[in-house]
Amino acid sequence: MRYSAFSLLAQALTGNRFAKPAWREPEPKPHYDVIIVGGGGHGLASAYYLAKEHGITNVAVLEKDHIGSGNVGRNTTIIRSNYLLEENNPFYEKSLQLWEGLEQDFNFNAMVSQRGVLMLCHSDGQRDAYARRGNAMRLHGVDAELLDRQGVREMVPYLDFDNARFPIYGGLLQRRGGTVRHDAVAWGYARGADSRGVDVIQNCEVKGIRIEHGIVKGVETSRGFIGCNKLGLAAAGHSSHVAKMAGLSLPIESHVLQAFVSEGIKPMIDNVVIFGVGHFYVSQSDKGGLVFGGDLDAYNSYARRGNLPMVEHVMEAGVSMIPALGRVRVLRAWGGIMDMTMDGSPIIGKTHIPNLYLNAGWCYGGFKATPASGFCFAHTIARDQPHELNAAFRLDRFRRGYPIDEAGRGATPNLH
Ligand SMILES: Cc1cc2nc3c(=O)[nH]c(=O)nc-3n(C[C@H](O)[C@H](O)[C@H](O)COP(=O)(O)OP(=O)(O)OC[C@H]3O[C@@H](n4cnc5c(N)ncnc54)[C@H](O)[C@@H]3O)c2cc1C
Repeated sequence: MRYSAFSLLAQALTGNRFAKPAWREPEPKPHYDVIIVGGGGHGLASAYYLAKEHGITNVAVLEKDHIGSGNVGRNTTIIRSNYLLEENNPFYEKSLQLWEGLEQDFNFNAMVSQRGVLMLCHSDGQRDAYARRGNAMRLHGVDAELLDRQGVREMVPYLDFDNARFPIYGGLLQRRGGTVRHDAVAWGYARGADSRGVDVIQNCEVKGIRIEHGIVKGVETSRGFIGCNKLGLAAAGHSSHVAKMAGLSLPIESHVLQAFVSEGIKPMIDNVVIFGVGHFYVSQSDKGGLVFGGDLDAYNSYARRGNLPMVEHVMEAGVSMIPALGRVRVLRAWGGIMDMTMDGSPIIGKTHIPNLYLNAGWCYGGFKATPASGFCFAHTIARDQPHELNAAFRLDRFRRGYPIDEAGRGATPNLH
C-alpha cells in the first residue's frame, strides 16, 4: 500500500477498515542470505539498502525488543554534516543528501525539517576553529556560513549575548541541517525493507553466534537457531555484548546519554542551537516541547537512565545560553546507551571472520548517520568490500594507528 494524500483520504472516508499494517510479523525462516542483528535505525536502513540497491532480499533483521525501542527512538533528532575531517565529512554529507530525499524514497513521512543548525562560539580561538571547520566543509562542497555576533543576534535574539563567562562571539551555521522525527525513521525503513521482502523479526534476541571452521553459520536466538551466509552486527549500545559472542573484543565503551523534553510552549526556537561551552543543544518539536540534551554521564553503564548531576549540568548550560529557559518546566527525561569508540568515529566494515561484518561505535552522533551508515554497510556486506565513504572506518584502524579523532581528545571515549 502506497501512502499518498489520496490514500489518506480514502482511509479516512472508509474508517481505516482497509488499512494494512505497515510491516508484517513473519516467523523466522531456518536460513537467510543475510542476517542483521539489531532493529535500530542502522540495522533497518542496512536491510533496506541491501534490498533496494543490491537486490538482496532474503534478509532478516533480528530485534530483541520492538523496533524503535533503542537509540533510534531515544535521540534528540539532530541531523547535520558539519564535520572537519576528510574521513567524516563526505560520509555525513552523503547522509544529509539521503535524508533530503528519504521520505519520497521510502514513502513515509519522517518529518525531515531542514531548519538550520547553529553552533555558537564564545572566544576568538573557538571562532578560528569554526572558521577552519567551515572552510573544510566548503572545500567538500558542503554549505557553511560563519556568522558574526550581529548575525547570530538577528537569527536567535533570545540568547544571553553578554553572559559574563560565555559571551557570544558568533556561530557556524549549516542551513541544511535540522531535525527528523526519530522513530518514524525506524518505521519508514522497516516498512520499506518489508515491502521489498525483508523479514523484520521483533522480540527475537540473539544469544549466541555459531562459528564453524572460522566461518559464521548462524545465530542462536530466543526463537531458536537461524542460519545465514553473512552476518551483520548493528546493535549500537550493545555492540560489545553481541560482538563478544563471536569472540571479538571491541575498542568501545558504553555510556548513558540523557535527553529531556519540556512542557509545550509557544513557538520560540525555530532551528537547532548548540552551545559552544558546556554541552547543550536544543530544538523545539512541532508539539511545542523543547527537546534538549547535553553530555554523557561519564561512567560506563548499560542502564537506560542517568543520574542527577548530569541533569543539573544540562540545565545549568541551558539557562546560561537562554536565561528564559529558567521558567520552563521539564516534562520528561530518559537515557540511551551510547557505543563510544576510542576516537569518537564509527566502525563500518569487515572483521577478521570472513562473513561477519560490524556496524558500531556511533557515539552520540549516530542518528544523523543512519541513511549513509545503512547505505555503506549494505554495500560492504553485498560486495564484501567497503564503499569508498566508509573505507576509513575500519575496525583495525586502532591497531594500525589511524584514529579519526574529530574532537582531538585522544583515547578517552567519554570525552568525544
Ligand atoms: C539521548 C540521546 C540523544 C541523541 N541525540 C542524537 C542526535 O541529536 N543526533 C544524532 O545524530 N545522534 C544522536 N544520538 C545517537 C543516536 O541515537 C545513535 O547513535 C543511533 O541511534 C544508534 O544506532 P541505532 O539507531 O541502530 O541504535 P538502536 O536503535 O539502539 O539499535 C540497536 C538495536 O539493537 C538491538 N539489540 C541489541 N542487542 C541485541 C541482541 N542481542 N539481539 C537482537 N537485538 C539486539 C537493540 O534492542 C536496539 O533496538 C543520541 C542518542 C541518545 C541516547
